Amino acid sequence: MDISIVIPLYNEAESLPPLYDWVRRVVTENGLSYEIIFVNDGSTDGSWDVVEKLAAKDSNVHGIKFRRNYGKSPALHCGFRKAGGDVVITMDADLQDSPDEIPELYRMITEEGYDLVSGYKKKRYDPLSKTLPTKLFNATARRVSGIPNLHDFNCGLKAYRQEVVKNIEVYGEMHRYIPYLAKNAGFSNIGEKVVHHQARKFGKTKFGGLNRFFNGYLDLLSLWFLNSFGLKPMHVFGFLGSLMFLLGFVAVLVVGGVKLVAICKGVSAPLVTNSPYFYIALTMMVLGTQLFVGGFLGELISRNAEGRNSYQIEEEI
Ligand code: UDP
Ligand code: MG
Repeated sequence: MDISIVIPLYNEAESLPPLYDWVRRVVTENGLSYEIIFVNDGSTDGSWDVVEKLAAKDSNVHGIKFRRNYGKSPALHCGFRKAGGDVVITMDADLQDSPDEIPELYRMITEEGYDLVSGYKKKRYDPLSKTLPTKLFNATARRVSGIPNLHDFNCGLKAYRQEVVKNIEVYGEMHRYIPYLAKNAGFSNIGEKVVHHQARKFGKTKFGGLNRFFNGYLDLLSLWFLNSFGLKPMHVFGFLGSLMFLLGFVAVLVVGGVKLVAICKGVSAPLVTNSPYFYIALTMMVLGTQLFVGGFLGELISRNAEGRNSYQIEEEI
């Protein structure tokens, strides 16, 4: 099979029939064999009935129904597990992404050799409250992930070689960082294609709130940490702990030294609690010890982690 189209959806009943017609027209016109996997993420609006009807009509249509709303990442994850096409394409269900992009995305993966091609909504039809923070977000993501050529990490329209989606784990709200996940798994040939975008016709956005930016940055931080130190937590905690402990130790020497010199000279020594070095010694040594303990705990956890020896092996002979 040429392509699997994975479509996560949450309360998008009106959009589904026109989306299906459009996708089917594009893939059949281009002679691509296909499957469409609708992942119903706990919709409460009859979206599943629509999926059932489409599946009854067309055997290329498959559906996964969550019992409740888990989020876009879990929906993509389950869609990816099921996808059997050589190229896997994800798109939003709300008709904001254009199925007309599918053939070119397919070509870029199969002919130009990309592992992943991300859509780039250069001209975006969303309110300013969404587009402006997104610019900032993408700039940070570019720096942290070390993928300098991506402008739109979170674009719902993306294409992958099948191998990529089978070897990444999209969990929590990590769908924002799939290119970063792919890169961390060793799929570094990541491209971008400018895609058409449309305003939402039916329903409303599910990602409007402000908290997504805080959560988004925290997720980015977690990914960066996991990728850099996930397998060797002591390297970061131990380093910081040693540094702090050393500073604290020097401060102790200063405090003790001052006291000792005063005693030797027979003058009345100042109270140690009057010295700023006393407080530096106190905090640094406590913090240093805590960081060390954090590091050791991290090592214990990673030693017992299930995935501690799962590596991406590309080939064996
Ligand atoms: N979506 C989902 N589960 C959720 C939230 C959203 O499957 O909990 C789907 C939604 O139905 C749509 C896609 O994810 O197909 C993108 O959502 P939306 O269009 O609301 O995001 P926006 O385009 O406004 O960023
Ligand atoms: Mg949308």
